[in-house]
Amino acid sequence: DYNPEIANVVTDSRKIQENDCYIAIKGENFDGNDFIEQAINNKASVILSNRQSSHKEVITVEDTVIALGNIAKKYLMQFDIKKLAVTGSSGKTTTKDMLYYVFNEHFSTHRTDGNYNNEIGLPLTALNIDKGYEAAIFEMGMSALGEIDYLAQLVRPNIAIITNIGSCHIEILKSQENIFKAKMEISNYLSNDDYLIVNGDDKYLTSLSENEYKFNLIKYGFSGECQLRASDYKAVDGQSEFWVTGMGINRRFTLPAIGLHNVSNALSAIAAGLIYKIPTEKIQAGLMKFQPSKLRMQILEKNNIKYINDSYNANPESMEAVITSFESYARGRRIAVLGDMLELGEFSVAAHEKIGILASEKFDLVFFIGSQMKHAFDNFNIDENTDKRKYHFIDNNIAIEEIKRIIKYGDTILLKGSRGMKLDEIFSALTDDNMEG
Ligand code: ADP
Repeated sequence: DYNPEIANVVTDSRKIQENDCYIAIKGENFDGNDFIEQAINNKASVILSNRQSSHKEVITVEDTVIALGNIAKKYLMQFDIKKLAVTGSSGKTTTKDMLYYVFNEHFSTHRTDGNYNNEIGLPLTALNIDKGYEAAIFEMGMSALGEIDYLAQLVRPNIAIITNIGSCHIEILKSQENIFKAKMEISNYLSNDDYLIVNGDDKYLTSLSENEYKFNLIKYGFSGECQLRASDYKAVDGQSEFWVTGMGINRRFTLPAIGLHNVSNALSAIAAGLIYKIPTEKIQAGLMKFQPSKLRMQILEKNNIKYINDSYNANPESMEAVITSFESYARGRRIAVLGDMLELGEFSVAAHEKIGILASEKFDLVFFIGSQMKHAFDNFNIDENTDKRKYHFIDNNIAIEEIKRIIKYGDTILLKGSRGMKLDEIFSALTDDNMEG
């Protein structure tokens, strides 16, 4: 009988090494099943494929993604570790990373790499755990009902966190209620001793009541009803300072990232840390190690113009969060470059109109970019008595020329839009060249 050794489980045919288990997955562009010969040549010891083969290494299964999930689930069950899972419409990666730094101060901790948060990335994350670890943080993403349930049954987290219920994927899920339902699936496998930690400032999550569940429920946020509350938020030199009260603590925290949404994300990490009795000094020390990823609330000062680059992505909630907290780090003229929020389907027009109204309260000057942002542009009110201004562009290159012409010494400029709008190109163009003035 063939009794192979397995070094690593891989799904990327280019990364197969001797004794690896290669799981062939059909993706959008490639079908992993086309690389079985290559896997044999690279000495994979086991190959899971949905095709028949005469090679002894190949095991034919109906669905290789499910097979990967089952292997990961079994593998994970061997370890007696603390498992935390994060989902939400925005802030997943940020929260996952904050949790990692907080937990790693006290426990040897593993985390999802980047945003490996789907039915393939999550099992691969689980398979990278080994004996040394005491805790693991999993990010869980979804675009349809049932997906988080699948990930949650695989991980069976002890602590589940929901950052917010937004309107991402609303095209598929049809309503925010469905998105709420889908995110709540993260709690499906929690038992009596486990915790669900949710953003109590979120209109859906705030309605949850502990009496309805067998597990423990913790709400965090700025509102008075939360068990863990933040107050006195200040942005100082690119850092946030805020006071935290509840769950037995009452102290100031500093976070090396700005924006109320980041404070919110940090609160969930503080709550999880407190549940596992991580000393508050260690929680604070862990938070200080957090670094916002590229394009997420990145601050750059050049030629005395202050840029806040949040061009990584945008949806209505993150757009609102970032615009609302802009005031706390702005000086000089308040300027924004706002790109379309994509994939909102029938909700798009109303969502952009709302952003236009909000923007007119917060900014002196806005460059709206993209076809959907025309609705925001139309709702940006210009009062006769002020010198507020607004512009609308479809093309990034034309926008760049105009923005360069108009911005000047002393301005503060926020850049935010969906990834597909490529506002990072505008950011680079504005900050790379030498500007006059
Ligand atoms: P995700 O992993 O869910 O895509 P990220 O952590 O990568 O989210 O953050 C992406 C963007 O979402 C950030 O740049 C910020 O604009 C916004 N964001 C982060 N956290 C929150 C939050 N708690 N509420 C609203 N928006 C947020």
